[in-house]
Amino acid sequence: MDIQKIGVIGAGQMGNGIAHVMALANYNVLLTDISQDALDAAVASIKGNLVRQVGRGKISEADMEGAMGRIACTLKLSDLGATDLVIEAATERESVKQAIFEDLQPHLQPHTILTSNTSSISITRLASRTDRPERFMGFHFMNPVPVMQLVELIRGIATDEPTYQACLGVVGRLGKTAASAEDFPGFIVNRILMPMINEAVYTLYEGVGNVRSIDESMKLGANHPMGPLELADFIGLDTCLAIMNVLHDGLADTKYRPCPLLTKYVEAGWLGRKTQRGFYDYRGDVPVPTR
Ligand code: NAD
Repeated sequence: MDIQKIGVIGAGQMGNGIAHVMALANYNVLLTDISQDALDAAVASIKGNLVRQVGRGKISEADMEGAMGRIACTLKLSDLGATDLVIEAATERESVKQAIFEDLQPHLQPHTILTSNTSSISITRLASRTDRPERFMGFHFMNPVPVMQLVELIRGIATDEPTYQACLGVVGRLGKTAASAEDFPGFIVNRILMPMINEAVYTLYEGVGNVRSIDESMKLGANHPMGPLELADFIGLDTCLAIMNVLHDGLADTKYRPCPLLTKYVEAGWLGRKTQRGFYDYRGDVPVPTR
């Protein structure tokens, strides 16, 4: 299937990264959001990130101009009816995503493939509520999208082979690598990463180590580029807790129970870098451990 025009729904952190990499790979991108401010901020952020890539010699000035020229924005979801592939990257709430697909459906061409960038919602369930479960799948980018090499491609129970192959082709054209995952909670990356982060929080909770010794141990002892607590702050502690709850509920195994200390940080509103406090305090010149 020939994919030329890509619709991206949600112009937040992920949506703007997805629009950025798609436009650089010569796809025409139509980006939508419910908020004009979010669209304006996304375009500014894409421009800033492209300028940085030019500065580092990764792309040329002409690549940047070309990519910016291939991105259009709209507040009307129905405009995405004209696209070949839709990547939904709106707020992580099932009711939001379901309403988006419902509203979009009457405007779609028969061949259009629908995908979701969801980190935790069942692809099979989202697909089952559309008119095209066989042309629906998970297209899960990692954050930050322009930097991270992996894309998880998640087949729902009904996803057909041409849909999978078309998405695989898009990942290839982005110069990224796809990992195929079945539609179970957390897919592959979060299924493995989040229990490790949660275990790091238990290690802190039980006093086995402090923030610094836990992070240094994993950096120097396991060659991880970031310590697990530092990484949790980067991802957002609310996101980490939400994903642990998805694993716990979806797999019904007590080994996934979220650490009470993680819950406490979230209750305090200490969500990591985005609120300037989490396992580290980011309000000064250098991050200082909070425990
Ligand atoms: P975000 O909060 O930065 O952005 C979400 C955007 O969706 C906002 O701009 C919001 O205005 C918009 N939106 C809300 N309702 C909408 C609607 N009805 N129509 C159009 N736009 C709407 O969130 P994010 O971090 O970019 O996450 C987006 C998706 O990507 C989620 O499904 C999330 O699970 C997934 N994801 C996030 C990460 C991450 O690290 N942040 C990584 C992988 C996947």
